[in-house]
Amino acid sequence: MENASADSLLQDSLDRCRNAGLRRTKALEEILRVLIQAPGPMTLTSLGAALGSQCDKATVYRLLIRLEEHAVIRRLGFHDRSAHYTMRYADRHDDYLICTGCGSVESLDIHCPVEVLEREISSNSGYTKLYHELQFYGVCPECAR
Ligand SMILES: [Zn+2]
Ligand SMILES: [Zn+2]
Repeated sequence: MENASADSLLQDSLDRCRNAGLRRTKALEEILRVLIQAPGPMTLTSLGAALGSQCDKATVYRLLIRLEEHAVIRRLGFHDRSAHYTMRYADRHDDYLICTGCGSVESLDIHCPVEVLEREISSNSGYTKLYHELQFYGVCPECAR
């Protein structure tokens, strides 16, 4: 997936939306485009800024909720004000570190240790297509000062 172009990721995400019964609108397409190209998770505010005046904030928020319900995107964070949104892809994931003070979110730059556990759980339980999403909470250096 790392080599997949933004266009094919967009197409793939739009397919998933269609299968989930989401109507393909300009706003939906633009939200996905921005999230796919974003270097990291985005807040509603940063997403709104990136979209400019082409989509109103209420529409964006409603669409984000639906996209999250259908597992096209992932919502990070622990309360609405600092919620971050990021794409969810079938064959790749990030685990995150979240500050309980300021709500900042950063992706963990570690080799995920849970993948080994996943394989073990899968072979013990017979479950396939396992996935996990880790969010570690703490106080960032900035807030600790
Ligand atoms: Zn902080
Ligand atoms: Zn992981």
